[in-house]
Amino acid sequence: MSAPAPLPGILDIKPYVGGASRATAQPGMRIARLASNESPLGPSPRAIEAFKAAADSLHLYPDGGVGALRGALAEHHGIDAAGIVCGNGSDELLALLAKCYAGPGDEVVISEFGFLIYPIAARSAGAAPVVAPERQLRVDVEAVAGLVGADTKLVFLANPNNPTGSYITAVELRELHGRLPPETLLVIDAAYAEYVTADDYDDGLRMVEAFDNVVVTRTFSKLYGLAGLRLGWAYCPAAVADALNRVRGPFNVTAPSQAAALAALGDTDNAAAARDHNARWLPWLGAELTGLGLTVHPSVANFILVEFAGAAAAAAARAHLSSLGIITREMDGYGLPGCLRIAIGLEEDMRAVVAAVAEFIARSTA
Ligand SMILES: *Cc1c(COP(=O)(O)O)cnc(C)c1O
Repeated sequence: MSAPAPLPGILDIKPYVGGASRATAQPGMRIARLASNESPLGPSPRAIEAFKAAADSLHLYPDGGVGALRGALAEHHGIDAAGIVCGNGSDELLALLAKCYAGPGDEVVISEFGFLIYPIAARSAGAAPVVAPERQLRVDVEAVAGLVGADTKLVFLANPNNPTGSYITAVELRELHGRLPPETLLVIDAAYAEYVTADDYDDGLRMVEAFDNVVVTRTFSKLYGLAGLRLGWAYCPAAVADALNRVRGPFNVTAPSQAAALAALGDTDNAAAARDHNARWLPWLGAELTGLGLTVHPSVANFILVEFAGAAAAAAARAHLSSLGIITREMDGYGLPGCLRIAIGLEEDMRAVVAAVAEFIARSTA
């Protein structure tokens, strides 16, 4: 019997498994969702108001050009609105970039512990992901550049990277770009850019203006606390924006999402509060867990990658935390089974994590 078959590559995709949303805790116990890098503070109240107000015009199609939001983003970042393309989360834009620029016979270079969406995007387009090894959980510019050949159409780089929390410096980013042929598109996924305070970090927006082969993607899912809206954007050279605008759905960003994101962008106090919260608790959590004897990989984002004494210990720690209502992310899918990724949450969540990990360690060494 024959049946419809998906195109080559589709069934090679390992389905993306998101962070767990349920704990094994007792009913009624407080739950700390620390598995998906969501904002613990939630979005701006102004964004919620705008979202609700948009309920009055749900019979109308959204602005397909996302004009108001693109204009506000351009102003906010000092960039050109014509180069901005919005999407249903930046995930959609990453997939569309792969679809536009890579196909069967082409290669897409990604980094060893890079975001798991990249191989999915490459394979969905029929292209082959090629993996560059990392050094100490950091993108190795030399290794990435060394794998780029005539068939390489795209390089996906998360900077900072999820799940490692590491970043490459402005100098390294320029060096990587300098090693790419002009026909290879460098996609810099800067989903966590708003959190980074390091002086030697570059979000890449200026590079988009300087080169025809650099795209930067950003999102409202992290610092702005609007993951449920699904709103990401890409800053692109004119020719890339033109390609994306041809393939994207004409109404790929919903009207309530546009309204809420516009309001969120205008609430700079709220964004600053989210940044300050992270700047306080990220180093605190790292120091406390280090103090308990664990290896904490340096992070500039809103989560940390913590290394336990092997895969079994990490799984047991995760189960213990879950029984106490604390949900963390397992890293098996990333090839880091000895690690857990823990997002920065509210103060009480952070204190609960440290207490629970201390208890776990005390129990397992007893
Ligand atoms: C969370 C995340 C995104 C954001 O995806 P959205 O589709 O915009 O929610 C993009 N890239 C990385 C590396 C992320 O961790």
